[in-house]
Amino acid sequence: MQVRIKIFAILAVFSVTLFNFSCTRKGSMTAIIVTGQNSHNWQRSSIALRSILEKSGMFTVGITVSPEAGEDMSGFIIDFSPYDLVVLNYTGDDWPAETQSNFVDYVQNGGGVVVYHNANNSFSDWKEYNEIIGVGGWNGRDENAGPYIYISGNEVIRDNAPGRGGSHGSQHEFLIETYKPSHPILEGLPERWMHAQDELYSELRGPAKNMEILAYAYSEERLGGSGRDEPLLMTITYGKGRVFHTALGHFGGGSLFSPAIECAGFVTTFQRGAEWAATGKVTQEVPAVFPTETESLQWPFFEDIYSDITPIISAMQQYETGKSNDCFNIFMKLIRENIDNQQIIDEYHSLIRQLLKSRKTSVECKKILLKDFSWIADDSYRDIYEELKQYPELSGEAQYAIDRTGE
Ligand code: ZN
Repeated sequence: MQVRIKIFAILAVFSVTLFNFSCTRKGSMTAIIVTGQNSHNWQRSSIALRSILEKSGMFTVGITVSPEAGEDMSGFIIDFSPYDLVVLNYTGDDWPAETQSNFVDYVQNGGGVVVYHNANNSFSDWKEYNEIIGVGGWNGRDENAGPYIYISGNEVIRDNAPGRGGSHGSQHEFLIETYKPSHPILEGLPERWMHAQDELYSELRGPAKNMEILAYAYSEERLGGSGRDEPLLMTITYGKGRVFHTALGHFGGGSLFSPAIECAGFVTTFQRGAEWAATGKVTQEVPAVFPTETESLQWPFFEDIYSDITPIISAMQQYETGKSNDCFNIFMKLIRENIDNQQIIDEYHSLIRQLLKSRKTSVECKKILLKDFSWIADDSYRDIYEELKQYPELSGEAQYAIDRTGE
């Protein structure tokens, strides 16, 4: 039954604007995840973040995807004003001036923002952006970006020493220690918890105006770290706007899963930080299960997050030559991973047939489905293949698929 519902949810999306959709559990507030360029696996992390937010019951979440790196960005215009929350999952080419000023106006006028992990790598030359995120790293950041911010004793240190901004050692589990346990985002949570394997960002630097550190972790030198207590959860106020900045949640490019983003501590602080950024309050209850000081814990509702493959299917449907073919690679991996699970494979068959039949699916997408995905096809595809063979631009690929299915 659940699978059936998901198929309908996915098919319904075919008539909606690319990536700008809502699904399953709707909250009354609206959020938009901005992504599309990022050395990490932004496709999967965006799905995960959307699901995390929607499972709070508070947000309906859309995902907006930029052109690829190096492409013309002039059409990437976002009006942020309708949203209660903007989630930044983007590190890449400059946004057009209009989108930049829309974003600054949005925050200035009281908008809520969540800065996720390496979104703090972005836009090192954009003054207002760096004031909004508080601190950042990489992309040429040095002493001109602002002081290093870290904790020593119980003091927040602003260190103007010259040097690069942004580093991390090898990934590992580490202890999160709260610095402002009474902040609404943290209130009621344990004061220390073990975070799942992640990159521990260190040597972040920036203007850090109106920034409050909520939690930090010790970055061990023996693991390639800085030897300092490094801020990892922050809030910033900018104009009337509220910003929650989590440096946690690394999701490697090419990785299908991320223990960091699945950590119950990450999820809980993300949900609470999102609500605080959007409203200034946190009404969510403290979860019954949470990591302890010695053991990290996977968020118990995480298992079905990636079963919503709507963004992948949408990207496939809109595929044109020259665009990233990540969506096909991810879908292929999902098929191979689930090849023994007939229920899931039946769902995938249904999606592929739907894509092949739909007039909204690009010719390039159909070519790839006929050539690279016909190995899983069975007789149920034959009529579709025969029909596609009538189209001159697809006849060769359709014949290939027919021959392959008949083997
Ligand atoms: Zn990372």
